[in-house]
Amino acid sequence: MEKLINLINSLSQEDKVKFDRIYEFKIEKAQQFFPEKIKETYKDKEFQTIYIFKNKILDQETHFNIQRAKRKEPLKEEKIDFYDPFCNPLEETPFDDLGRLGNEKAISASNLAKISLDHSLIIFKEHNKENLSKEDIEKALELSLLWFKKKQKKCNVLIWNNGFRAGASIEHPHLQIFAFDTLPAKIDFLFKRTIEYKNQFNSDYLEDLFEIHSKLGLAKKLNEIKIIINLTPFKDYELIFLFKDLEKNLTDISELLNLYCKISNNFNLLICDSDFLKIGFIVDRGEISKINSDIGSLEIYAFSVVGFDILEFAEKLFSELH
Ligand SMILES: [Zn+2]
Repeated sequence: MEKLINLINSLSQEDKVKFDRIYEFKIEKAQQFFPEKIKETYKDKEFQTIYIFKNKILDQETHFNIQRAKRKEPLKEEKIDFYDPFCNPLEETPFDDLGRLGNEKAISASNLAKISLDHSLIIFKEHNKENLSKEDIEKALELSLLWFKKKQKKCNVLIWNNGFRAGASIEHPHLQIFAFDTLPAKIDFLFKRTIEYKNQFNSDYLEDLFEIHSKLGLAKKLNEIKIIINLTPFKDYELIFLFKDLEKNLTDISELLNLYCKISNNFNLLICDSDFLKIGFIVDRGEISKINSDIGSLEIYAFSVVGFDILEFAEKLFSELH
């Protein structure tokens, strides 16, 4: 993280103005003291550096401490056979008012327990999420796009709760798709903040965000999509990506998702496609074998806590994107 701080401190005057209007940060150096018995075991934990970043526009705050990732966490080992109607969707899942949409890699279904009026599923034909290819992902996105086109609503939302730790109730990989008449509350909040930012600074918030992150080695363009490793992540390895046209950018988005699947096997993805915002978010939710949740009281009510080096992650991710 020190390298990142150096980069921030060496930003040009113009970039620093932009950085400062979006972010503030502080570094806390903590010391703690160990009883004799455990002193040797924990000698690398005596002095800890906590890097705290705040996004003032969105009121987000994240505390980075690499020691968080080194904690001993409870693990489970056993493999259980889970409920899975998605290997046989034609007979075991409901269908929606559009009937079944399908291609060689995916098929649509209605959601058995709807969250809103237009809420359906795109089920991958591949059962094992570890085996998904870029083509599987691209075809599933294509089918989602076809469903969105038929719905003709103002705001299309696609989510992928990949794995139980990310909130999936069925392990077999599947996307959830929604068509709304209005923007969902949290996306609307982001949209309103971008309008306020425009009024206040006569500048585009998301473009500035990309530019600042680029200067720090935390953002990269993949053809038309702009990928940002969020400086105030909700949890580990969070990405934001901006796209221009979901249909035209489908291949690049699929490439990004395919790469992310190799990094994480439990993640949350959300893509919002509307005239107001065209944006995606992905966040890792940790190893499946962990029993404890990665989200605690602080994340729900105060701020986020993560345990990774953001610049190291950016270098690793971007070295594999062409
Ligand atoms: Zn299955």
